[in-house]
Amino acid sequence: MAADLRSDTVTRPTADMIEAMMSAPVGDDVFGEDPTVNALQERLAGMFGHEAGLFCPSGTMTNQIAINVHTRPGDEVICDRLSHIYNYEGGGIARNSGASVRLLHGDRGRFTLADVKAEVNPGDSHYARTSLVSVEDTCNKGGGSCWDVAELQRISEWCRTQNLPFHLDGARVFNALVARGNDVKAYGQLFDSVSICLSKGLGTPAGSVLLGSKEFIKEAHRTRKVMGGGMRQVGILAAAGLHALEHQLPLLVQDHQRAKSLANALGELAWVTEIQPVDTNIVIFDVEENQAAKYCELLKSKSVFCMPFGPSKIRFVTHRDFSDQDLEYTTRMLRSIS
Ligand SMILES: *Cc1c(COP(=O)(O)O)cnc(C)c1O
Repeated sequence: MAADLRSDTVTRPTADMIEAMMSAPVGDDVFGEDPTVNALQERLAGMFGHEAGLFCPSGTMTNQIAINVHTRPGDEVICDRLSHIYNYEGGGIARNSGASVRLLHGDRGRFTLADVKAEVNPGDSHYARTSLVSVEDTCNKGGGSCWDVAELQRISEWCRTQNLPFHLDGARVFNALVARGNDVKAYGQLFDSVSICLSKGLGTPAGSVLLGSKEFIKEAHRTRKVMGGGMRQVGILAAAGLHALEHQLPLLVQDHQRAKSLANALGELAWVTEIQPVDTNIVIFDVEENQAAKYCELLKSKSVFCMPFGPSKIRFVTHRDFSDQDLEYTTRMLRSIS
């Protein structure tokens, strides 16, 4: 037995998914002629109430393209200090777009309209121009935390009055939507641009889709080319995305249940000092000071793989390839450690 809780990116495509990929009609997507890519882009745009979509190799690229299109060099992006666009995209905001960041200190990655209002710069030329607000739902570093949709609505409405674009890093947006059960289209329309990962909970080998207006996606297409993200007969990958929307999306709820079970099991262990609330498929917990690496190694020796998420923090991420048997095995291994 082995259980891999390092990330929801470790899933392998199912036989059915590979079958769908093998039989996908394809064309040159740089020319906009791949029917499967077009179908995926239209499907997601339709679901989220946006005009158009753009298939890209990764979620880093969809986020970075959005930032690039929304900002000019010297501008400022407002986001939470836990956000992926700030922490885990290689400094791309500065490197790709010449923009700086204004970090908010929210609650597990979630901030309020009041927080945003307090950090938007005045329109005086002394200040950097605030040209984007970005949120992450669910927030990875916040332990898969889900936003309160009413707060997103307040931020969205206010941003519109200020002509301030509002971006969603929705790498795990389907986890959030499944956990809350809210209307996808109404939710999608809160944002000017949405980045969605297909290779996390949805379990495809690669791919992300950026959504927005026709005009926005036209610009995004240019930036994708500049970043080297234009691909050719990539309907092979888009087919995995279409398959996942049909067959993996309904299974996300199980990932959430298994994450809750893991948290319950952790709650009984003397060596676990604190567990963050579990909203979706991520469990972040604390062990004794500076002992995270030690416990990860101990678990690894029992073929339970996970990642230190700080000197005293460990992250578990559940996913399609973490089954009920894996849950049972992991629980047993957790109890065997002291
Ligand atoms: C995974 C992830 C991304 C995109 O990462 P890639 O590895 O480039 O696909 C973006 N935002 C969040 C919150 C993520 O978890």
